[in-house]
Amino acid sequence: MSRVYNFAAGPAALPEEVLKEAAAEMLDYKGCGLGVMEMSHRSKDFETILGDAKKDLTDLLNIPDNYEILFMQGGGTTQFAAVPMNLMKNRVADYIVTGQWGKKAYEEGRLYGQANKIATSEDRTFAYIPDCSDLPISENADYVYICENNTIYGTKFKELPNTKGKDLVADQSSMFLSEPCDVSKYGLIFAGAQKNIGPAGVVVVIIRKDLITEDVLPGTPTLMRYKIHADNNSLYNTPNSYGIYICGKVFRWLREMGGLEVMKERNVKKAAVLYDFLDQSKMFRGTVDREFRSLMNVPFVTDSEELNAKFIAEAKNNGLVQLKGHRSVGGMRASIYNAMPYEGVVKLVEFMDRFEKENR
Ligand SMILES: *Cc1c(COP(=O)(O)O)cnc(C)c1O
Repeated sequence: MSRVYNFAAGPAALPEEVLKEAAAEMLDYKGCGLGVMEMSHRSKDFETILGDAKKDLTDLLNIPDNYEILFMQGGGTTQFAAVPMNLMKNRVADYIVTGQWGKKAYEEGRLYGQANKIATSEDRTFAYIPDCSDLPISENADYVYICENNTIYGTKFKELPNTKGKDLVADQSSMFLSEPCDVSKYGLIFAGAQKNIGPAGVVVVIIRKDLITEDVLPGTPTLMRYKIHADNNSLYNTPNSYGIYICGKVFRWLREMGGLEVMKERNVKKAAVLYDFLDQSKMFRGTVDREFRSLMNVPFVTDSEELNAKFIAEAKNNGLVQLKGHRSVGGMRASIYNAMPYEGVVKLVEFMDRFEKENR
């Protein structure tokens, strides 16, 4: 077996320890004589898997008692609709659009009510986060929406917006559990699993309990109602049980690594290796304003399409894969989530240095 360093934005690398453990349990989970994929979601064993996952996530993020954890399906994108369907009581919401995912959420929100784009960084291809300290928040807004880390453009909110008392809803898909987070500052956080915590399809929703009500928009499908999932411990219908099991293993791995303070330290150190190289390089450069740089997604370019393509191909031959930038941006992007080891980033930078010298 030979594993590569996988810089994909998602589905992305998972901790090798987690994959090995899952492989060992694939055919026979702890003496059950069957695997988790084949197990009833109503069995005692699965109940324990789900309960442990919730407990470990609660410990990792210090989730307060007045919040609920939901494991839903349909990825991050389904939440673009679930959020307005459940939370738009006044049918008004304010969106801060700092990338493609925020834009998609905003456009989805417009299907359900008055979604206001109160700030955007579209004017410079989303290379920065706008000043959100004094925005024209709508009087009757049900929530203020952000995509906290922009997977495609590589920017991150370093400060949360001033929502002037309105509930903050954040898409944390590509930064979930990469650093400590004060959950009490949010009304709702959601994260698709395939970036930082598990297999595609699962989405974790952390929601303040008073926002979970029967009062949803008419026509909201049963399975899109937060209350149905909250009342049924995420087991109203068959959940993505295997996905939840892997997420649970990642939560446990994060705890064993020392928790989110330690992960932040590791992620800062890892990202610095790459950003420091980019800042001195004469060939490669980062594409976003420095003060908004993401710790997780690092887009960069050369001045030539030809060199970009050559770099991506040669990197692949050197065991550094999935470095092609998003189709809407071009160039390169290195996603360096929790599971990417420090050595992987060092290998990448060594390769970039060599490539620069050879192609000057
Ligand atoms: C990947 C991503 C999504 C979409 O996730 P799907 O699981 O494909 O629906 C949404 N938001 C962000 C920030 C993402 O990175």
